Amino acid sequence: MSASSSVNWSPHYSAFGLLANALTGQKGWRPAWRDAAPKPAYDVIVVGGGGHGLATAYYLAKEHGITNVAVLEKGHIGSGNAGRNTTIIRSNYLLPGNEPFYEWSMKLWEGLEADLNFNAMVSQRGVLNLFHSDPQRDAYARRANAMRLAGADSELLDADGVRALAPFLDFANARFPIKGGLLQKRGGTARHDAVVWGYARAADRRGVDIVQNCEVTGFLRENGAVVGVETTRGPVRAGKVALAVAGSTSRLTRHLDLRLPIESHALQAFVSEGLKPLVPGVITFGMGHFYISQSDKGGLVFGGDIEGYNTYAQRGNLPVVEDVCEGGMAIMPLIGRLRMLRSWGGLLDMSMDGSPIIDVGPLPGLYLNTGWNYGGFKATPASGWCFAHTIARDAPHALNAAFRLDRFRSGHVIDEKGVGAQPNLH
Ligand SMILES: Cc1cc2nc3c(=O)[nH]c(=O)nc-3n(C[C@H](O)[C@H](O)[C@H](O)COP(=O)(O)OP(=O)(O)OC[C@H]3O[C@@H](n4cnc5c(N)ncnc54)[C@H](O)[C@@H]3O)c2cc1C
Repeated sequence: MSASSSVNWSPHYSAFGLLANALTGQKGWRPAWRDAAPKPAYDVIVVGGGGHGLATAYYLAKEHGITNVAVLEKGHIGSGNAGRNTTIIRSNYLLPGNEPFYEWSMKLWEGLEADLNFNAMVSQRGVLNLFHSDPQRDAYARRANAMRLAGADSELLDADGVRALAPFLDFANARFPIKGGLLQKRGGTARHDAVVWGYARAADRRGVDIVQNCEVTGFLRENGAVVGVETTRGPVRAGKVALAVAGSTSRLTRHLDLRLPIESHALQAFVSEGLKPLVPGVITFGMGHFYISQSDKGGLVFGGDIEGYNTYAQRGNLPVVEDVCEGGMAIMPLIGRLRMLRSWGGLLDMSMDGSPIIDVGPLPGLYLNTGWNYGGFKATPASGWCFAHTIARDAPHALNAAFRLDRFRSGHVIDEKGVGAQPNLH
């Protein structure tokens, strides 16, 4: 489908539409978004067609009326982390800089499907973090209270409460006996590709150009300001250039002689053969660096640690496969008889305090969205919403006010332990 066929936007999805198409040979469907070619200039260019880039474009159009926008993606949309993650959504953060932002994301998830008119399979099946000692219980009690103060839900379970949800866990594990867990019932999973497709379709319907197979290879500069990008499909000018390229951020900012407090590491994930319903929600075993959930198709989806070295490759290595499986066996021995179907890797943008950056600058005309560590999927709606605000108003929203780049210079870091600070130590 060509860029000029803008009238051919996909229709509003509804039960009536399904019925009408069923009765007319399924001839009424249209591609969900146009395959646009890049125009010579835009008001805003968003680099990166992952969830964050597409959500940013959508909220620029929806919340700020800025529709002369292109999302430039080097491959196909969702081919980065957005299509490679383990789909967990939650807002169980501790620190004041983080928790209100992630809770806003949860609220956006809760209304997302109606907003986008797309089934993103948002499933609030609960997220349970296990604890194994009295000090860890205290830490989770503190986190649960912080969550409540920010308007999120949280429950502290004892061992019997966990047993009622997940009797298959090894409660008497010699090294890490299960003493209880922090449960967020509103947490859960969402279908990652559907989130990408839903945002792409909704942005396209508001006039955003989604340009695939268009790699940004450099920047156009005038008097120190960024005024556009060089791409594999030619130069494209823009009033504002916004980067949402996750683990590729430092590769791109290198062209601007900018060094960021970001390291790129690979993270792997795994899926088993399909089983009957077993794992009720998401279970995390932080002490063993292992977490697990079950997909709607029945496969157990699990993961663990990042690779210990810096890389731009979207794949990991066997020692981490072994490490993750050991963690799984320690807490859930029944997976020992499972067959693993697939594993894959994605490229994480690890920030040095484990918290993200959504900011104006640091050069005129440039806007940054990065530092998502292990956990940017759950942030997708709020990240796009806040980044759109930051780009449109040239200033952060209160929700991302703490996510400034200069915190690493001023010392106002948001050191959210357990989400990836100091990636060199993993
Ligand atoms: C295995 C794994 C499991 C994870 N599990 C979870 C989870 O359960 N929950 C959670 O919250 N988070 C999870 N994450 C993290 C989460 O997936 C990411 O933080 C999030 O998806 C980042 O979104 P994004 O849109 O910024 O990045 P991406 O989806 O990676 O998008 C960036 C896009 O930029 C494109 N790009 C790069 N360079 C260029 C260029 N030069 N020109 C044009 N385009 C370019 C890439 O092709 C890519 O499509 C996981 C990540 C991995 C890898």
